[in-house]
Amino acid sequence: MKYRKEKKLIIEIGKMLYNKNFVASNDGNISMRVSDDEVLITATGVPKGAMGYQDIITIDMGGHVIDGKNKPSSEYKMHLEVYKKRKDVMACVHAHPQKTTAFSICEFDFNEVILPEVVLSIGNIGVAEYASPSSKELAGIIGEKASEYDAILLSNHGALTLGKDPYDAYYKMETLEHYFSIKLYTKILGNAKVLPEEEKAHLFDIRKSVYGK
Ligand SMILES: [Zn+2]
Repeated sequence: MKYRKEKKLIIEIGKMLYNKNFVASNDGNISMRVSDDEVLITATGVPKGAMGYQDIITIDMGGHVIDGKNKPSSEYKMHLEVYKKRKDVMACVHAHPQKTTAFSICEFDFNEVILPEVVLSIGNIGVAEYASPSSKELAGIIGEKASEYDAILLSNHGALTLGKDPYDAYYKMETLEHYFSIKLYTKILGNAKVLPEEEKAHLFDIRKSVYGK
């Protein structure tokens, strides 16, 4: 079987998403670029915690199935737009973690910095305006946001994270949900101390010098 090792990685990430409660039922999708014109992506309508090799479909950059009996995730357009815009991105994870999704539904200042480590690991968080799931319109919006952000909230829907491999994309999703869990607690406690603009700029300098971003 071609790309067995890569498919195994995607199956592992699916289990992690499910075990962390980042997806319910058949929600979410995972993709990985394996060559200039080949992307592996989870099939539509499969539970991410219980996938087998047959649930990972190979498509080309036009969205046509190259290998696999099932249909690719209906969100494949959004994943392909990311790969077209970002040559450095090799994997994408889309999920509906509960707190992240709750914040995607509410208005909030996503530029305020309360946790330095979130800036260091994922930088700013992008917010994509609402468009219907699986639509071309959503794919276009995500393509634009992807040029600037590695973690994007999909308004009233969930999140998409980009990485150099499936683990990198997954861990960004974990960081995102951890961040929004803490942010939710700060809303309950009140009086959150937001870091000043100078410190925010300093953190972005560190991110640039350490991570080259
Ligand atoms: Zn979704």
